[in-house]
Amino acid sequence: MGEEILRVENLKKYFPLEKSFVEKILSRQRRYVRAVDGISFSIRRGEIFTLAGETGSGKTTVGRLILRLIDPTDGKIFFDDKDITNLKGEALRELRRKMQPIFQDPYSSLNPRMKVGEAIKHPVEIHGIAGGEEARSLVLEILEKVGLTPPEKFYELYPKDLSGGQRQRVAIARAMIIKPEFIVADEAVSMIDVSLKAAILELMLSFRKELDLTYLFITHELAVAKYISDRIGVMYLGKIVEIAPTSKIFENPIHPYTKALIAAIPVPNPRRKKKFILKGEVPVAPIDIPSGCRFHPRCPLATDKCRRNEPELEEIENNHYIACWLSEEN
Ligand code: SF4
Repeated sequence: MGEEILRVENLKKYFPLEKSFVEKILSRQRRYVRAVDGISFSIRRGEIFTLAGETGSGKTTVGRLILRLIDPTDGKIFFDDKDITNLKGEALRELRRKMQPIFQDPYSSLNPRMKVGEAIKHPVEIHGIAGGEEARSLVLEILEKVGLTPPEKFYELYPKDLSGGQRQRVAIARAMIIKPEFIVADEAVSMIDVSLKAAILELMLSFRKELDLTYLFITHELAVAKYISDRIGVMYLGKIVEIAPTSKIFENPIHPYTKALIAAIPVPNPRRKKKFILKGEVPVAPIDIPSGCRFHPRCPLATDKCRRNEPELEEIENNHYIACWLSEEN
Protein backbone atom coordinates (compact mmCIF):
# COMPACT_ATOMS: atom_id res chain seq x y z
CA MET A 1 0.00 0.00 0.00
CA GLY A 2 1.32 3.45 -0.90
CA GLU A 3 1.16 6.81 0.79
CA GLU A 4 -2.09 8.39 1.98
CA ILE A 5 -4.29 9.57 -0.91
CA LEU A 6 -7.46 10.64 0.92
CA ARG A 7 -8.11 11.89 4.42
CA VAL A 8 -11.29 13.20 6.02
CA GLU A 9 -11.23 14.99 9.34
CA ASN A 10 -14.27 15.42 11.56
CA LEU A 11 -16.56 15.46 8.52
CA LYS A 12 -20.17 16.47 9.14
CA LYS A 13 -23.24 16.86 6.98
CA TYR A 14 -26.47 18.08 8.53
CA PHE A 15 -29.54 18.52 6.32
CA PRO A 16 -32.00 21.15 7.61
CA LEU A 17 -35.62 20.05 8.00
CA GLU A 18 -38.52 22.23 6.94
CA LYS A 19 -40.21 23.68 10.03
CA SER A 20 -43.76 22.47 10.58
CA PHE A 21 -46.60 24.99 10.97
CA VAL A 22 -46.65 24.44 14.77
CA GLU A 23 -42.87 24.82 15.01
CA LYS A 24 -43.07 28.14 13.11
CA ILE A 25 -45.80 29.44 15.42
CA LEU A 26 -43.86 28.42 18.52
CA SER A 27 -40.61 29.80 17.00
CA ARG A 28 -38.96 26.45 17.63
CA GLN A 29 -35.37 26.02 16.45
CA ARG A 30 -34.82 24.36 13.10
CA ARG A 31 -34.07 20.64 13.34
CA TYR A 32 -31.47 18.75 11.31
CA VAL A 33 -30.92 15.30 9.87
CA ARG A 34 -27.40 14.51 11.07
CA ALA A 35 -26.50 12.23 8.16
CA VAL A 36 -22.75 12.36 8.86
CA ASP A 37 -21.85 13.39 12.36
CA GLY A 38 -18.10 13.87 12.70
CA ILE A 39 -16.10 11.10 11.07
CA SER A 40 -12.36 10.80 10.38
CA PHE A 41 -10.48 8.22 8.35
CA SER A 42 -7.82 7.96 5.67
CA ILE A 43 -7.21 5.75 2.63
CA ARG A 44 -3.82 4.78 1.20
CA ARG A 45 -3.00 4.75 -2.51
CA GLY A 46 -3.89 1.37 -4.04
CA GLU A 47 -6.15 0.42 -1.14
CA ILE A 48 -9.79 -0.71 -1.27
CA PHE A 49 -11.50 0.79 1.75
CA THR A 50 -15.15 -0.03 2.33
CA LEU A 51 -17.74 1.87 4.30
CA ALA A 52 -20.39 -0.64 5.37
CA GLY A 53 -23.63 -0.30 7.28
CA GLU A 54 -27.38 -0.42 6.95
CA THR A 55 -29.42 2.06 4.92
CA GLY A 56 -29.50 5.34 6.85
CA SER A 57 -26.00 4.95 8.29
CA GLY A 58 -24.71 7.95 6.28
CA LYS A 59 -22.23 6.08 4.07
CA THR A 60 -23.68 7.34 0.77
CA THR A 61 -23.56 10.92 2.06
CA VAL A 62 -19.85 10.45 2.86
CA GLY A 63 -19.29 9.34 -0.75
CA ARG A 64 -21.13 12.37 -2.13
CA LEU A 65 -19.15 14.70 0.16
CA ILE A 66 -15.84 13.22 -1.00
CA LEU A 67 -16.92 13.49 -4.64
CA ARG A 68 -17.73 17.14 -3.87
CA LEU A 69 -21.31 16.73 -5.09
CA ILE A 70 -22.52 18.33 -1.84
CA ASP A 71 -20.85 20.70 0.64
CA PRO A 72 -20.04 19.58 4.16
CA THR A 73 -21.48 21.31 7.22
CA ASP A 74 -18.10 21.04 8.91
CA GLY A 75 -14.79 19.20 8.68
CA LYS A 76 -12.10 18.82 6.04
CA ILE A 77 -11.39 16.58 3.05
CA PHE A 78 -7.83 16.20 1.75
CA PHE A 79 -6.90 14.52 -1.55
CA ASP A 80 -3.20 14.03 -2.25
CA ASP A 81 -2.54 16.26 0.77
CA LYS A 82 -4.51 19.10 -0.84
CA ASP A 83 -7.53 20.54 0.94
CA ILE A 84 -10.44 19.93 -1.48
CA THR A 85 -13.22 20.81 0.98
CA ASN A 86 -14.23 24.00 -0.81
CA LEU A 87 -12.87 23.39 -4.29
CA LYS A 88 -14.71 25.20 -7.09
CA GLY A 89 -14.44 25.90 -10.84
CA GLU A 90 -11.43 24.68 -12.80
CA ALA A 91 -9.78 23.10 -9.73
CA LEU A 92 -12.93 21.02 -9.12
CA ARG A 93 -13.03 19.99 -12.80
CA GLU A 94 -9.42 18.85 -12.53
CA LEU A 95 -10.31 16.84 -9.40
CA ARG A 96 -13.15 15.12 -11.30
CA ARG A 97 -10.62 13.80 -13.77
CA LYS A 98 -8.80 12.07 -10.90
CA MET A 99 -11.86 11.02 -8.90
CA GLN A 100 -14.76 9.21 -10.56
CA PRO A 101 -18.02 7.74 -9.23
CA ILE A 102 -19.70 4.45 -10.05
CA PHE A 103 -23.26 4.52 -8.78
CA GLN A 104 -25.79 1.87 -7.86
CA ASP A 105 -28.18 2.39 -10.73
CA PRO A 106 -26.36 2.97 -14.01
CA TYR A 107 -29.69 3.37 -15.81
CA SER A 108 -30.45 6.61 -14.02
CA SER A 109 -26.96 7.99 -14.65
CA LEU A 110 -27.00 7.16 -18.39
CA ASN A 111 -28.80 9.43 -20.84
CA PRO A 112 -31.44 7.15 -22.45
CA ARG A 113 -31.17 9.10 -25.73
CA MET A 114 -27.38 8.77 -25.94
CA LYS A 115 -25.73 5.75 -27.57
CA VAL A 116 -23.48 3.75 -25.26
CA GLY A 117 -20.38 4.72 -27.25
CA GLU A 118 -21.23 8.43 -27.10
CA ALA A 119 -21.88 8.24 -23.34
CA ILE A 120 -18.46 6.69 -22.73
CA LYS A 121 -16.78 9.17 -25.09
CA HIS A 122 -18.30 12.18 -23.33
CA PRO A 123 -15.79 12.43 -20.41
CA VAL A 124 -12.89 11.89 -22.85
CA GLU A 125 -13.95 14.99 -24.76
CA ILE A 126 -14.96 17.03 -21.70
CA HIS A 127 -11.51 16.56 -20.16
CA GLY A 128 -9.75 17.25 -23.50
CA ILE A 129 -8.07 13.82 -23.57
CA ALA A 130 -8.92 13.07 -27.21
CA GLY A 131 -11.45 13.88 -29.93
CA GLY A 132 -12.80 12.46 -33.20
CA GLU A 133 -11.47 9.08 -34.35
CA GLU A 134 -8.93 8.88 -31.53
CA ALA A 135 -11.70 9.20 -28.94
CA ARG A 136 -13.76 6.56 -30.75
CA SER A 137 -10.80 4.13 -30.72
CA LEU A 138 -10.38 4.67 -26.97
CA VAL A 139 -14.07 3.85 -26.48
CA LEU A 140 -13.83 0.67 -28.58
CA GLU A 141 -10.76 -0.38 -26.60
CA ILE A 142 -12.42 0.11 -23.21
CA LEU A 143 -15.66 -1.59 -24.35
CA GLU A 144 -13.56 -4.65 -25.17
CA LYS A 145 -11.82 -4.46 -21.77
CA VAL A 146 -15.10 -4.41 -19.85
CA GLY A 147 -16.33 -7.42 -21.81
CA LEU A 148 -18.86 -5.70 -24.09
CA THR A 149 -17.93 -7.39 -27.34
CA PRO A 150 -18.02 -6.95 -30.23
CA PRO A 151 -17.35 -3.32 -29.22
CA GLU A 152 -18.56 -1.88 -32.56
CA LYS A 153 -22.00 -3.38 -31.87
CA PHE A 154 -22.20 -2.13 -28.27
CA TYR A 155 -21.04 1.36 -29.33
CA GLU A 156 -24.28 1.78 -31.32
CA LEU A 157 -26.70 0.44 -28.67
CA TYR A 158 -28.82 2.50 -26.26
CA PRO A 159 -29.02 1.89 -22.48
CA LYS A 160 -32.50 0.34 -22.91
CA ASP A 161 -30.95 -2.38 -25.11
CA LEU A 162 -28.69 -3.61 -22.29
CA SER A 163 -29.13 -5.85 -19.24
CA GLY A 164 -28.40 -4.51 -15.72
CA GLY A 165 -24.97 -6.14 -15.71
CA GLN A 166 -24.10 -4.73 -19.13
CA ARG A 167 -25.20 -1.24 -18.06
CA GLN A 168 -22.93 -1.45 -15.01
CA ARG A 169 -20.07 -2.44 -17.34
CA VAL A 170 -20.81 0.72 -19.36
CA ALA A 171 -20.71 2.78 -16.14
CA ILE A 172 -17.35 1.21 -15.26
CA ALA A 173 -16.00 1.88 -18.78
CA ARG A 174 -17.13 5.51 -18.58
CA ALA A 175 -15.36 5.97 -15.23
CA MET A 176 -12.15 4.16 -16.26
CA ILE A 177 -11.65 5.62 -19.73
CA ILE A 178 -10.13 8.81 -18.33
CA LYS A 179 -7.72 6.80 -16.13
CA PRO A 180 -8.74 8.16 -12.73
CA GLU A 181 -6.76 7.64 -9.54
CA PHE A 182 -9.67 7.24 -7.14
CA ILE A 183 -13.10 5.64 -7.49
CA VAL A 184 -16.09 6.07 -5.22
CA ALA A 185 -18.20 2.97 -5.90
CA ASP A 186 -21.55 3.47 -4.17
CA GLU A 187 -23.53 0.19 -3.95
CA ALA A 188 -22.04 -0.56 -7.38
CA VAL A 189 -23.16 -4.19 -7.44
CA SER A 190 -26.23 -4.13 -5.21
CA MET A 191 -28.67 -4.08 -8.15
CA ILE A 192 -26.76 -6.74 -10.07
CA ASP A 193 -27.95 -10.32 -10.21
CA VAL A 194 -26.14 -12.51 -7.66
CA SER A 195 -24.68 -14.70 -10.42
CA LEU A 196 -23.00 -11.66 -12.04
CA LYS A 197 -21.76 -9.85 -8.92
CA ALA A 198 -18.42 -11.65 -8.71
CA ALA A 199 -17.68 -10.96 -12.40
CA ILE A 200 -18.32 -7.21 -11.96
CA LEU A 201 -16.20 -7.13 -8.78
CA GLU A 202 -13.39 -8.97 -10.60
CA LEU A 203 -13.61 -6.43 -13.41
CA MET A 204 -13.18 -3.61 -10.87
CA LEU A 205 -10.23 -5.43 -9.32
CA SER A 206 -8.58 -5.81 -12.73
CA PHE A 207 -8.71 -2.01 -13.21
CA ARG A 208 -7.22 -1.53 -9.75
CA LYS A 209 -4.16 -3.43 -10.94
CA GLU A 210 -3.95 -1.81 -14.35
CA LEU A 211 -4.43 1.80 -13.23
CA ASP A 212 -3.01 1.54 -9.70
CA LEU A 213 -6.49 2.61 -8.56
CA THR A 214 -7.73 3.34 -5.07
CA TYR A 215 -11.35 2.58 -4.18
CA LEU A 216 -13.78 3.87 -1.62
CA PHE A 217 -16.40 1.14 -1.75
CA ILE A 218 -19.81 1.76 -0.17
CA THR A 219 -22.08 -1.17 0.50
CA HIS A 220 -24.70 -2.56 2.84
CA GLU A 221 -23.64 -6.10 1.89
CA LEU A 222 -20.93 -7.36 4.26
CA ALA A 223 -20.29 -10.33 1.97
CA VAL A 224 -19.36 -7.93 -0.85
CA ALA A 225 -17.15 -5.94 1.53
CA LYS A 226 -15.37 -9.14 2.56
CA TYR A 227 -14.77 -10.12 -1.07
CA ILE A 228 -13.26 -6.86 -2.23
CA SER A 229 -11.84 -4.81 0.65
CA ASP A 230 -8.45 -4.40 2.29
CA ARG A 231 -10.03 -2.51 5.22
CA ILE A 232 -13.57 -1.89 6.37
CA GLY A 233 -15.14 0.98 8.29
CA VAL A 234 -18.54 0.17 9.82
CA MET A 235 -20.96 3.11 10.07
CA TYR A 236 -23.98 3.53 12.29
CA LEU A 237 -26.22 6.63 12.39
CA GLY A 238 -23.61 8.98 10.95
CA LYS A 239 -20.60 7.71 12.94
CA ILE A 240 -17.88 5.15 12.29
CA VAL A 241 -18.05 2.53 15.06
CA GLU A 242 -15.28 0.16 13.97
CA ILE A 243 -12.39 0.25 11.47
CA ALA A 244 -10.02 -2.65 10.85
CA PRO A 245 -8.38 -4.72 8.12
CA THR A 246 -10.97 -7.03 6.54
CA SER A 247 -9.53 -10.19 8.11
CA LYS A 248 -9.75 -8.66 11.61
CA ILE A 249 -13.32 -7.46 11.05
CA PHE A 250 -14.43 -10.98 10.18
CA GLU A 251 -12.21 -12.99 12.54
CA ASN A 252 -12.39 -10.73 15.57
CA PRO A 253 -15.22 -8.19 15.32
CA ILE A 254 -15.55 -6.27 18.58
CA HIS A 255 -18.32 -3.71 18.20
CA PRO A 256 -21.74 -5.33 18.82
CA TYR A 257 -23.10 -3.68 15.66
CA THR A 258 -20.33 -5.21 13.53
CA LYS A 259 -21.01 -8.58 15.15
CA ALA A 260 -24.71 -8.26 14.32
CA LEU A 261 -24.01 -7.32 10.68
CA ILE A 262 -21.71 -10.33 10.30
CA ALA A 263 -24.25 -12.61 11.98
CA ALA A 264 -26.85 -11.41 9.45
CA ILE A 265 -24.83 -12.57 6.41
CA PRO A 266 -26.78 -15.42 4.81
CA VAL A 267 -25.10 -18.80 5.44
CA PRO A 268 -25.61 -22.23 3.83
CA ASN A 269 -26.96 -23.58 7.13
CA PRO A 270 -29.72 -21.15 8.23
CA ARG A 271 -30.27 -23.17 11.47
CA ARG A 272 -26.83 -22.13 12.69
CA LYS A 273 -27.42 -20.23 15.92
CA LYS A 274 -26.96 -16.49 15.54
CA LYS A 275 -25.24 -14.85 18.47
CA PHE A 276 -26.30 -11.30 17.81
CA ILE A 277 -29.83 -10.39 16.88
CA LEU A 278 -30.54 -6.67 16.82
CA LYS A 279 -33.64 -5.03 18.17
CA GLY A 280 -35.44 -2.52 15.92
CA GLU A 281 -34.13 -0.83 12.81
CA VAL A 282 -31.84 2.07 12.05
CA PRO A 283 -34.02 5.23 11.82
CA VAL A 284 -34.51 6.26 8.17
CA ALA A 285 -33.59 9.87 9.03
CA PRO A 286 -31.22 10.37 11.99
CA ILE A 287 -32.92 13.38 13.60
CA ASP A 288 -33.28 12.59 17.29
CA ILE A 289 -29.98 10.78 17.87
CA PRO A 290 -30.08 8.68 21.08
CA SER A 291 -28.06 9.98 24.02
CA GLY A 292 -24.70 8.40 24.90
CA CYS A 293 -23.79 5.60 22.53
CA ARG A 294 -26.20 6.11 19.64
CA PHE A 295 -26.43 2.34 19.19
CA HIS A 296 -27.63 1.69 22.75
CA PRO A 297 -31.41 1.28 22.03
CA ARG A 298 -30.55 -1.70 19.80
CA CYS A 299 -27.55 -3.08 21.66
CA PRO A 300 -28.06 -6.27 23.70
CA LEU A 301 -25.07 -5.32 25.88
CA ALA A 302 -25.96 -1.71 26.73
CA THR A 303 -25.29 -0.46 30.27
CA ASP A 304 -26.13 2.80 32.06
CA LYS A 305 -22.77 4.22 31.05
CA CYS A 306 -23.67 3.53 27.38
CA ARG A 307 -26.92 5.47 27.78
CA ARG A 308 -25.14 8.47 29.30
CA ASN A 309 -21.76 8.84 27.56
CA GLU A 310 -20.77 8.61 23.91
CA PRO A 311 -17.66 6.45 23.27
CA GLU A 312 -14.94 7.87 20.99
CA LEU A 313 -13.34 5.87 18.16
CA GLU A 314 -10.08 4.60 19.67
CA GLU A 315 -7.28 2.35 18.47
CA ILE A 316 -7.34 -0.77 20.64
CA GLU A 317 -4.59 -2.56 18.75
CA ASN A 318 -2.57 -1.98 15.61
CA ASN A 319 -4.99 -0.68 12.94
CA HIS A 320 -8.13 -1.75 14.83
CA TYR A 321 -10.35 1.14 15.99
CA ILE A 322 -13.54 0.79 18.05
CA ALA A 323 -16.14 3.16 19.48
CA CYS A 324 -17.61 1.07 22.30
CA TRP A 325 -17.20 1.10 26.09
CA LEU A 326 -16.85 -2.69 26.02
CA SER A 327 -13.56 -2.43 24.13
CA GLU A 328 -11.96 -1.28 27.41
CA GLU A 329 -12.67 -4.76 28.75
CA ASN A 330 -11.18 -6.65 25.76
FE1 SF4 B 1 -23.37 -1.43 23.08
FE2 SF4 B 1 -22.51 0.15 25.04
FE3 SF4 B 1 -20.81 -0.65 23.17
FE4 SF4 B 1 -22.70 1.11 22.58
S1 SF4 B 1 -20.99 1.42 23.99
S2 SF4 B 1 -22.13 -0.65 21.39
S3 SF4 B 1 -24.39 0.38 23.82
S4 SF4 B 1 -21.89 -1.96 24.65
